[in-house]
Amino acid sequence: MPHGSTEMPWLEQIMAASPETLGLVMLEADPHGWRLDRSERLAAVADALGDGAAAAGNLRAQFPGLTPREIAHALGLPIHSTDDDPLVGSLWRFAEYQPRPSRILLYSRGLAPLDRMLVDPLAARLLGPATLQDAFIAHELFHHMEATRSTPPIARRYRPTLFRVGGWHWRTGIAALSEIAAGAFAQSLLGLPCYPRVLDLVARDTVASSAAASRSRDAM
Ligand SMILES: [Zn+2]
Repeated sequence: MPHGSTEMPWLEQIMAASPETLGLVMLEADPHGWRLDRSERLAAVADALGDGAAAAGNLRAQFPGLTPREIAHALGLPIHSTDDDPLVGSLWRFAEYQPRPSRILLYSRGLAPLDRMLVDPLAARLLGPATLQDAFIAHELFHHMEATRSTPPIARRYRPTLFRVGGWHWRTGIAALSEIAAGAFAQSLLGLPCYPRVLDLVARDTVASSAAASRSRDAM
């Protein structure tokens, strides 16, 4: 069924939000992100967005005109598809990057509901000429770049102190920063009209409504 954005009034609002705003929401949902104070949070989001965009610029300069799948191939990074259940606990998986040995895994059953609902005009507004797989592969390419480059990952650049015992600090990384950067990377690499977090939110809505539909079918 084609979805116009009129069926999801919240979507217009989210599509109009800046990457900075969406990134800040992601950071504040992180189990450790809220420990940073407001000015640190704003700086961390700007830093993560800048990091992702710069990494995309470097990769684009190296591989002009290639799709994310072709770039992965050129880097010797395999992309595999799996029919495994995309749902683990409350996490719905679309794609993931696995290190050692490095590969990108696409969850075909995870991507399918989103792929079915993303038809034009919504697809064009969210993805432009890119495909859904392009967007998810690009995101995982960032995690590959991050895992293989020499600079420390963005998630470890901001490390709130968990607690202090004398001169001892327990510190942690902030995983959301890596996700914020991966979004900026995908958006910049593909020239996406929307910050890709919007796709996650559309997916969450789609998956929730298709799960509800199959529950009501089962009940019949
Ligand atoms: Zn990610």
